[in-house]
Amino acid sequence: MARSDFDVLIAGGGFAGLTLAIALRQALGASFAVAVVDPGLGRAAAADDERASAIVASVRRLFETLGVWQRVAADAQPILDMVVTDSRLGDAVRPTFLTFAGEVEPGEPFAHMVENRIVVDALTTAARELGIELRSAAVTDFTVSAAAGEAPSHPGRVEARLSDAGVLNARLLVAADGARSTIRSKAAIATHGWSYGQSAIVVNVAHARDHHGRADEHFLPAGPFAILPLKGNRASIVWTETTADAERIMALPQAEFDAELEQRFKLHLGEIKVIGRRRMHPLGFFVARSFIAERIALIGDAAHLIHPIAGQGLNMGLKDVAALAEVVVDAARLGLDPGALDVLERYQRWRRFDTMAMGMATDGLNRLFSNRSDALRLVRDVGLGLVDRLPVLKRLFIREAAGLVGDVPKLLRGEAL
Ligand SMILES: Cc1cc2nc3c(=O)[nH]c(=O)nc-3n(C[C@H](O)[C@H](O)[C@H](O)COP(=O)(O)OP(=O)(O)OC[C@H]3O[C@@H](n4cnc5c(N)ncnc54)[C@H](O)[C@@H]3O)c2cc1C
Repeated sequence: MARSDFDVLIAGGGFAGLTLAIALRQALGASFAVAVVDPGLGRAAAADDERASAIVASVRRLFETLGVWQRVAADAQPILDMVVTDSRLGDAVRPTFLTFAGEVEPGEPFAHMVENRIVVDALTTAARELGIELRSAAVTDFTVSAAAGEAPSHPGRVEARLSDAGVLNARLLVAADGARSTIRSKAAIATHGWSYGQSAIVVNVAHARDHHGRADEHFLPAGPFAILPLKGNRASIVWTETTADAERIMALPQAEFDAELEQRFKLHLGEIKVIGRRRMHPLGFFVARSFIAERIALIGDAAHLIHPIAGQGLNMGLKDVAALAEVVVDAARLGLDPGALDVLERYQRWRRFDTMAMGMATDGLNRLFSNRSDALRLVRDVGLGLVDRLPVLKRLFIREAAGLVGDVPKLLRGEAL
């Protein structure tokens, strides 16, 4: 009979859920039972995800430590250079306000671009090879049985009901089930946040000339237009517009869509050609009021959603993973209950403030740049120009964006648990 009792049950087999399962299995071995449930498992959930993500240096160190980076490295494009411009759509020339050379340490790029499906496939394969229980179902509800009054040998548990009528028990249920988290709402955890009224059009292009690992972020009045280098002569475009304009552009016939794209992309990489489908993602911001509830921990987009302006959403989720894995492993090694409140509180203290700070920073950046005010444009261009002339500040920004500043969990420093 299939097992139904686990130490940790993870709902959601995206980046965050699978990485957490692998980290726990590698640190604690097979006697610490971990399961991942996701309705998309087994049918290449990410196959229709055309997005690519910037994996920053600290997260690459985590993937390397877990033996996952080795599976994606050949498809990962290092970002060697970043260029920031600030102009109007019709401007013939886009002056460069800020440039970053892309290394956090000599020979260690600030970030790599990798397509999401390649990373999720590598994580799924690694989890299977490690013998982690993977089940293709959704968590539909759960109940927590309190520890109060029970013998310490029989601490409280959470009982999760699944869409395939199964029931699983665990000492800790981790919500890694994305921005519309069922577990967060069933746990009655509210969120602070708002919609931006903006959407990102995401599309990949092939281009004639070599990008030399250069990423461009063009701040246009409707929002950022990012050209992010992929392996080969290809790039991932994240193109922000008001939602009404994004809907209009998404509905255009190919030739007109291409014309809108070229107006923003320009021709510095020669001829461009759209490959794959266009996708549209509405953009919003929220942070959960609490990252924990009784026997529940929220990680990744279930805990927070931020604007992609700085490409940090997934990286923040993996910081949650590294912090939660570390507190759970510390507790388990001492023979303590991994779902106990003090363990979860340690996780929340570690992550919530940092998340608010990054969330507000990306929100502020979006407000500063996504507008048509000439006065604000002058302020930000003076600011960008100043940063560009201060190498020490630039280095600090790069290290901060790479996730290497502050109280960094072990896995993100490249240390095994
Ligand atoms: C346009 C755009 C560009 C981006 N670019 C970047 C970037 O460059 N860098 C970066 O760091 N981040 C980026 N992000 C953010 C990043 O994509 C997300 O933060 C990341 O995918 C979140 O991973 P996750 O594992 O938390 O959630 P998800 O990837 O959403 O995974 C959630 C999983 O949970 C499963 N699930 C849902 N409900 C249930 C349930 N009830 N039970 C069980 N399983 C369930 C789903 O099937 C899914 O597999 C970008 C986002 C957007 C919109």
